[in-house]
Amino acid sequence: MLDVARSYVAAGSEVILTNTFRANCVALEGTGFADRVREVNRAGVEISRRAAAGRAHVFASMGPSGRLLAAGEISERRLEETFAEQARALAEAGADAIVIETMSDPDEAAIAVAAARDTGLPTVACMVFDSGSDDDHTFTGATLETAIRALLDAGASVIGANCGRGIEGFAALCARMRAVSDRPIWIKPSAGLPELDGERAAYRMTPDRFAESLSEVVRAGATFVGGCCGTSPAFVAAIRRTLARER
Ligand SMILES: [Zn+2]
Repeated sequence: MLDVARSYVAAGSEVILTNTFRANCVALEGTGFADRVREVNRAGVEISRRAAAGRAHVFASMGPSGRLLAAGEISERRLEETFAEQARALAEAGADAIVIETMSDPDEAAIAVAAARDTGLPTVACMVFDSGSDDDHTFTGATLETAIRALLDAGASVIGANCGRGIEGFAALCARMRAVSDRPIWIKPSAGLPELDGERAAYRMTPDRFAESLSEVVRAGATFVGGCCGTSPAFVAAIRRTLARER
C-alpha cells in the first residue's frame, strides 16, 4: 500500500487518498476488523502520510456502508454512529480532509458528511451519477441538483462526482454543479466500464484520452480532478501534462 501511494505522489498527485474506503464497522463486518475501526483508519492515514512525505495532501476516504437505508437494511441512527466512529478515527490520525465518495444515496451521504464535518475537517462529498437515461441520477433516483443540495445542506465544503460509467458526460455534470453552488468541485471519473479479458478486468480508456476529457471538466469549473476505478499513476501523469500545456 505504501508503494501504491508513493507511485501517485511520484506521478504528480497533489492530493492522495487513504485506503480506508471500506473501513467502517458495517462494511468490515465478517472480516475480523469490525471492532478495530480506529486502528485500521489510523494505519491508513499513517501509510498515506509516509508516502506523501510532505509533497502531497492526505485526504481520508470514506465510502458507503454497503446497506440500503431506503430498504430498511440499516437505520439512520446506526449510520450516524458508524460514520462518526470512522470520521473521528481519521481526524485523530491527522488527515487533512475527509472525502465521502462513491455514494449512491444522498440520504446516506448526508449522514456521512455531517459526521465528517463534526470533526472540524474540510469535507469533500461526492456521489455516483450512473442512473437514468442521461446518467445524471443517483442509483436511488435523485437528480444531480437534489443530491448536491443535500450534500451542501449537510455541510460539505466541496461537492462532486466520482466513479460511474466513464468520463463521458462529466463536463456536463460539472457545469450543472457549478449552477447549483460556487463551492469547489471535485471530479474523479473511472476509466469506463471494465471488459473481461480472461480472468482480469481490463479498461480500454487510455491515459491521454482520459486527460483530454478531464481538461473539458476543468473548463466546466472543476477544482480538483483525478481518476477513480481503472485509472493508475500513468493517468495522473497524463492529467498533469495536459493541464500544464493548457495553462
Ligand atoms: Zn470508482
